[in-house]
Amino acid sequence: MYAEPLARLIEELSKMPTVGPKTAQRLAFYILRMPKEDAAQLSQAILDAKAKIHYCSNCFHITDVDPCAICTNASRSQNVICVVEDPRDVLAMERTREYHGLYHVLHGAISPLDGIGPDDLKIAELLTRMKDGEVTEVIVATNPRVEGEATAIYLAKIIKPLGIKVTRIAHGLPVGGDLEYADEVTLAKALEGRREM
Ligand SMILES: [Zn+2]
Repeated sequence: MYAEPLARLIEELSKMPTVGPKTAQRLAFYILRMPKEDAAQLSQAILDAKAKIHYCSNCFHITDVDPCAICTNASRSQNVICVVEDPRDVLAMERTREYHGLYHVLHGAISPLDGIGPDDLKIAELLTRMKDGEVTEVIVATNPRVEGEATAIYLAKIIKPLGIKVTRIAHGLPVGGDLEYADEVTLAKALEGRREM
């Protein structure tokens, strides 16, 4: 139906989340109409992001410098770590402008049904960060669904014996929802209303 290079472009685009065949076709035709320089910039941006963005070796947020800008920001509280599932949750928390501590990204949540256990997440790395005794509170901001709750309970069980306060963000968030999609006010309130576990 399409010339081979166009068919390939549509096929690659349709691998993206939320992009169905129709949208892929629309994007492909848009790209075909782009000035050559714009198309080059788009492809270069994809390659640059892939080459230069990696995970912070301390908090596992996405960054182009290591440690990341949040970890090295001296004006942030070094005593509080907010634990989230995904780098996008860090961005959601930052949008509230209400949180001034550090983060730790687990890259998932405990889910026995999917075969994801504590060892598949950045939990050992989180415990390592607590060894210097600087951390006094861990805020568990995993998503308010079964996996997020199971992860929160597991973290409380292993962190509380270290003498560190573990809190859970309040349930102002819609159950089953993602932090990522919560508006700033709801998320700020959930943070403010956190309870000790
Ligand atoms: Zn970091």
